[in-house]
Formats: sequence, C-alpha cells, structure tokens
Amino acid sequence: TAGGRVAIRTRALTKVFRGFRAVDAVDLEVREGSVHALVGPNGAGKTTLFNLLTGFLAPTSGTITVFGEDVTGLPPERVARRGVARSFQITSLFDTLTSREHVELALQGHSRQGFRFWRSEKLLGRPRARVDDLLTQVGLMPLADKPAGLLAYGQKRALELALVLALDPPVMLLDEPTAGMGIEDVDRTIELVRRLAAGRTVVFVDHNMHVVGSLADRVTVLQQGRILAEGGYDEVRNDDRVITAYLGE
Ligand code: ADP
Repeated sequence: TAGGRVAIRTRALTKVFRGFRAVDAVDLEVREGSVHALVGPNGAGKTTLFNLLTGFLAPTSGTITVFGEDVTGLPPERVARRGVARSFQITSLFDTLTSREHVELALQGHSRQGFRFWRSEKLLGRPRARVDDLLTQVGLMPLADKPAGLLAYGQKRALELALVLALDPPVMLLDEPTAGMGIEDVDRTIELVRRLAAGRTVVFVDHNMHVVGSLADRVTVLQQGRILAEGGYDEVRNDDRVITAYLGE
C-alpha cells in the first residue's frame, strides 16, 4: 500500500526541556500510505515526538517536513492544513453534546479551517449523510443522540476517532487509540483503525504490542529520546536491544 512519497520526515529533531533531551536528534521517515507505530518504554519521548509532529510543541532544533514542505515551528492548525491531524482527547469532548453534535461541529470546523481542499468532493452536499456515515463507521449510529457524558469509555474513544475522521486528513496521528480499553474494545478499535487507514497514512503510539503487531507496517522504537530500532514488527520485536530496553522498564 505504501506509495513512493514520504509523508513526514524529521531531521535531527530535538526537544530539550530545561537541559533534558526528551527527543534527541531523531531522524524519522513515515512513508505515505503506511501505518507507522511509535513505541518504547515510559519516558522514551513518544508523547513529546507526537506533540512536535503536530505542532503542539516547537522543536529546540531540527526540522520537520510534511510531503516535502517544511512545517518546522508551525502552530497545530497550520500543520493540520498541510494534512496532518491528530485524534482528539476524551478531555476535549463536551458532556452535554451528543455524538451527532460533536461530529457536526467537527465537520463545520473542517470546512472553516480550510481542510476542504484535501478532498473537497466528499464534503459537497449531503452533510447529514456524511454525519451518519461517520457515526456508522465508528459504530456509534445507535447512540447518535446520546450525550457524550453518558457514553461508556470505549464509546468515547470511538467518538474521538469519528472526530479525526471528520477532518479526513491524509496523515492521521492517533495517540494511544486503545489505552485503557478491555479486550473487546481493543479488537474493535484495531478493525476500525485498519479500515480508516485505507488510503491514508497513520502514525500511532500504543503500549499494547498486540495492537502494534496487528496494525503497524513499520515500527520505530524510541528509548531515551533516540531511535533504538526501526523496521517491521517481527524484525524489531526480535531485536536484542529492544528486548533489553523493555526488560529494563
Ligand atoms: P513517553 O510518551 O514515551 O512516555 P514523554 O515524551 O512523555 O515520553 O517524556 C519523555 C521525557 O521528557 C520524560 O522524562 C518526561 O519526564 C520529559 N518531559 C516530557 N514533557 C516535559 C515537560 N513539559 N517538561 C519537562 N520534562 C518533560
């Protein structure tokens, strides 16, 4: 599925917090059309790297390009306009708004912020059908009119995915899509992410190796802010340095 292009590339990307190198000279390459996992022990720098890629943090040094264009230091909304959008967090859901209302708002934000140019044909007409389609894709259609505050945990996470899908970004970044889920929700989410990955590039962080093994074409293992290993899941899983890093956790 991977195309010839590079969706995201970082060069010597570094983030220093008060002298501490949380991300240290990272050269990352995410191929267009791939599903790319970022893994590593706690404190490895995954969240920091994620925040750098989406513009939520500015790097101390190094560069980030998206489809060849420099986005280093751009704020999140401008990075998003280049085609990179991240999953919303449960903490940004409104308890009193229904799933349908959330998706409607996300679709409005989508056209207002000018994401439209990515795939304009999908947004022409039939907004109601588009909302229904998104809710159906994440399995929330039966709960469309329930306030988000009353949804179960796994349902809230599904709503987060519907909201990032509403943006329809070419590059989708998912921050621990299965965190805190029971096994059934985990498997449902794997299926969902697999479907929504069709035709786009996905970068995700997840601690669950079953999820990583099921979804990722490519895995980057971070340790102490640096890339420890990179490759296919089976390749990195059997890498001695990776085994040692996880044993040391
Ligand atoms: P991971 O997501 O892999 O667990 P993080 O990116 O959250 O790792 O953190 C990497 C390191 O950077 C940790 O040691 C953490 O304490 C430190 N760190 C992260 N954010 C900050 C911050 N805002 N200020 C100071 N240190 C931070």
